[in-house]
Parts: sequence; C-alpha cells; structure tokens
Amino acid sequence: MGKLDGRVVIVTGAARGQGEQEARLFREEGAEVVLADVLDEQGEALATDIGARYVHLDVGDEGQWRDAVSVVKNAYGRVDGLVNNAGILRFDSLVDTPLDEFMQVVRVNQVGCFLGIKTVAPVMEDGGTIVNTASYTGVTGMAAVGSYAASKHAVLGLTRVAALELAGRGIRVNALCPGAIDTAMSNPAQLDPGADVEGMSRALDQLYRKLVPLGRIGRPEEVARLALFLTCEDSSYITGQPFVIDGGWLAGVSVV
Ligand code: NAD
Repeated sequence: MGKLDGRVVIVTGAARGQGEQEARLFREEGAEVVLADVLDEQGEALATDIGARYVHLDVGDEGQWRDAVSVVKNAYGRVDGLVNNAGILRFDSLVDTPLDEFMQVVRVNQVGCFLGIKTVAPVMEDGGTIVNTASYTGVTGMAAVGSYAASKHAVLGLTRVAALELAGRGIRVNALCPGAIDTAMSNPAQLDPGADVEGMSRALDQLYRKLVPLGRIGRPEEVARLALFLTCEDSSYITGQPFVIDGGWLAGVSVV
C-alpha cells in the first residue's frame, strides 16, 4: 500500500530539483503524478522515466493554468493534490533591484502560487491537499534576496488564507520552508556540464557547516519526504502551517 494510492497530484517546477524528488517519491507512493514546468525536454524525459504525465506550464500565466488543469481532468477525471513548487531566485540588494527583476520573482513565486490555488482548488476533490513552497526566507530576513524573501513571506500569507477558505471542504493547505537545499538554485554548478558538481556540493557543505547546526546543506529528497507527509493522511489534522526544514538554521545562533 502506498501513502498516495488512488490520488492525482500536480507538482509544479517538477523537471528538476525538489520538484523532481517530490514527483519521484509521490509516484513510488502510488500517486498519479502530473509534472508541470517550463523545461519541457527535461520534464518530458522525467515523466517518461517515472511513468507520469508532463504538461507545459508557466505558473505565472493564468491561461496556461486553465489548460493544464483541463489536461489533468481529462486524463484522470480528478485532482487530489497540488504542490506549488516552481520558484526562482535573484540576488541584489533592495536598492539595486530593478523593478522588472522584483516583478519577475513575484510573478513566479507569489502569483504562480496564487494562480495554482485559484485554478486548482475549485476542481479539487474534497479532502485534497495543497502544499506551497515558501522558504526559510519566508519566515526571516536574508540580505541580498529581498524580492525572493518578500515573495516567500507572501506565500505564507496565501497559505494561511487558503487554509481558512478551503477547510470547509476538508482541503488542507500547508507550506514548506526549506533552508539551503542542494539543487541548481543553491548550487548552479549542477547546470554546468563541465563543473565538478560533487566538489561544489562538498564546498557548500563546508560553508553550511559553519552556518547550520546540523552542519550540512539539505538534500532535495529530504524536502520531498516533508511534502509527502503534508500530502498524505499522516498530516490529516494539520492545515495553515509553515514547516521549516533547515537543519536548525532558524533555531538561533551559536556563540561558542
Ligand atoms: P530549481 O531551480 O532546481 O527548481 C525550480 C524549478 O522551477 C525548475 O524546474 C524551473 O524550471 C521551475 N520553474 C521556474 N520558473 C517557472 C515557471 N515560470 N513556471 C513553471 N516552472 C518554473 O530549484 P529548487 O531548489 O528545486 O526549487 C524548488 C522550490 O524550492 C522553489 O520554490 C524555491 O524557491 C524553493 N526553495 C529552494 C531552496 C534551495 O536552497 N534550493 C531553499 C528554499 C526554498
């Protein structure tokens, strides 16, 4: 018996990184999984590999959300789960952030999440689940990522309001708040075919050894296990909450 047997779950930004690991794990747990992304070649290949379906979806585009949901409903007749995982990160101090860049981040991270809730919740089965991907920077500040932190704080607001509005139908809405996780977002070497990815991962571990109590960067598989918990019945009495997964980073600072 899988924890998601009989359920149909959409994962956005699923072509790589945390979304890929969520799609893989959900599939292993018996779900029909729909991978949505703008990286069509990678998304199609992964879907074929794990026996899932791929749809092209730019999460900032309402029309594309409507099309994607139609594809899912036509293929499976139902939607039980949504993981709003797609996201982008840009580095700049606030005073140096061009408005276009700020809006680009808001469009994917915040509007994408809003449109996912708005488009999927009305057709979702009662008792369904929505997991929004916020961040460690959704609950605290971090210099040089102002647009990102603002959008991730907003994701927590959307999560709480959606949880209240959808609770009557038994739909639970929660948020993931990962700290540093070893994906292309934190480790762009993964996108460079010539790069020493393992060496870079070791370097990141060194960096996070100083910053994070558990002494290492997180793995996308670890975030996927939390997403599974929030998508399956194990979390049946939990809604409207942020779940920090950060190796203890947010717990405080050590002075010795
Ligand atoms: P990633 O860059 O590997 O994956 C992001 C995915 O989102 C990619 O597949 C990308 O193509 C997709 N995407 C980007 N724009 C999109 C759009 N407009 N429409 C659809 N898909 C789009 O990084 P990741 O770490 O796997 O990121 C997953 C989520 O986790 C993001 O929301 C990110 O903000 C969040 N997060 C990541 C970290 C980290 O350290 N990696 C920490 C906290 C939160």
